[in-house]
Amino acid sequence: MRKVDVIIVGASLAAAAAAKRLTDAGLETVVLERKALPRHKICSGILSPRGHRFLLENFGPLPREALHEPTACRGVTFHFPSMVSLSMDFFGGTTPHLHRKYSDHWAIKQSRAEVHDETSFAGLEDRGDHVLVHARKHGEPLEYRARWVIGADGPSSLVTRAVYPDYPKQIPWFFVGQKFHDIIDCPLSPEYFHFWFHPGLGHYTWSHARDGRQIVGVGFKRGDNFAAKHANVVNYLSEKHGVKLKEHTDDEGCAENFGPSLINRYVFGKGNVLITGQAAGFLNMIGEGKSCALHSGAISGEAVVEARLRNRPVQELYRRMIASEVRRTSDQWNPLKIAFDRPHEADFPAALMALPWRERGLVLRDMWRFVVLYKEFKWGRQIASAALQRPLIGGYSMMKWQ
Ligand SMILES: Cc1cc2nc3c(=O)[nH]c(=O)nc-3n(C[C@H](O)[C@H](O)[C@H](O)COP(=O)(O)OP(=O)(O)OC[C@H]3O[C@@H](n4cnc5c(N)ncnc54)[C@H](O)[C@@H]3O)c2cc1C
Repeated sequence: MRKVDVIIVGASLAAAAAAKRLTDAGLETVVLERKALPRHKICSGILSPRGHRFLLENFGPLPREALHEPTACRGVTFHFPSMVSLSMDFFGGTTPHLHRKYSDHWAIKQSRAEVHDETSFAGLEDRGDHVLVHARKHGEPLEYRARWVIGADGPSSLVTRAVYPDYPKQIPWFFVGQKFHDIIDCPLSPEYFHFWFHPGLGHYTWSHARDGRQIVGVGFKRGDNFAAKHANVVNYLSEKHGVKLKEHTDDEGCAENFGPSLINRYVFGKGNVLITGQAAGFLNMIGEGKSCALHSGAISGEAVVEARLRNRPVQELYRRMIASEVRRTSDQWNPLKIAFDRPHEADFPAALMALPWRERGLVLRDMWRFVVLYKEFKWGRQIASAALQRPLIGGYSMMKWQ
């Protein structure tokens, strides 16, 4: 049985950030990844300026192979049913358009942790002074003994399920799917990520250019029909925006734990097991999850380093240290922060104020109608009350961290 200081589950961005902190401090760290590396990861690849800064500061400049075409993104364009469109540039200029298969592999290599790919986490036993980790490689069982374990295994995290068996029943689950189309004619600017606030299209509707094709994506509550939702969006883009696409050539989709950061249902682990990244619930508004995965991952690594140095329980340290990232992520959803502060990395209030009065009114009306859409599913009241109570009662006492 292999004995190490830390096992990290998942070889993505949260894992790379955690691993970097641990190897820098001299801790023996092994990363388990269920897929063969470099592995595919479904993602638009849009990187926030904060995520970009983290990569540069911690891992250096990105290699060219880690980028899709177009290689950079200027910002986000919101589209509304009233046919007003609002383009917002990222603060500080364009950011790289990540090809996750190669960017994530590059980041994990830069962390200098030892990586065991094609090795799936299967379960754990926290014995107090160490954790026994059960895994499988090519169907064969494997065991590791670690002082600490970090679960950085994404939205459908098995580490989270091992620690909180009921968690999957406690949060809303969505399906997001995207189809890739060859382009006949596309007036949507390839420099921006496009997002529709349109109740008739779904909870989460997006499109952007990638490697000469156009992606059309939809997010909806689990159980709805992907093909029908997608066809509805393609027709809408054709009729309203003049986007003419050929039949899709590829498609893909996955389950997403979209919403825990909105309703303050983060999970951070128990005993010697920490949970981080999207597995913990970190996801920014409009589904940007890389920057908070990187930062929360780094904090989980730092918490372990501190726990070892000061001989203190790691959970106490992690929960104290992670509070800043929780606040930052939850602020993204806070209506008062959006109206009067700058919780996002593109200037929505400035773009709104640049519109004529009438269009400004239409945008606010359309956004309100979009939020009302949430009444359709059972988490609606909870989401609405969390979003409203947070600013009203001064904030974060409403958190339901586990
Ligand atoms: C369609 C779509 C588009 C998106 N677009 C964007 C975007 O443009 N910008 C953005 O910032 N975010 C985007 N996101 C969100 C972003 O991809 C995630 O928030 C981010 O990747 C989370 O990082 P992570 O390191 O926490 O986990 P993940 O990136 O999910 O990585 C988890 C890793 O754990 C591995 N793993 C899982 N289970 C096991 C196991 N049992 N054993 C071993 N390994 C395991 C997985 O293979 C994977 O490598 C998008 C998500 C989707 C679905």
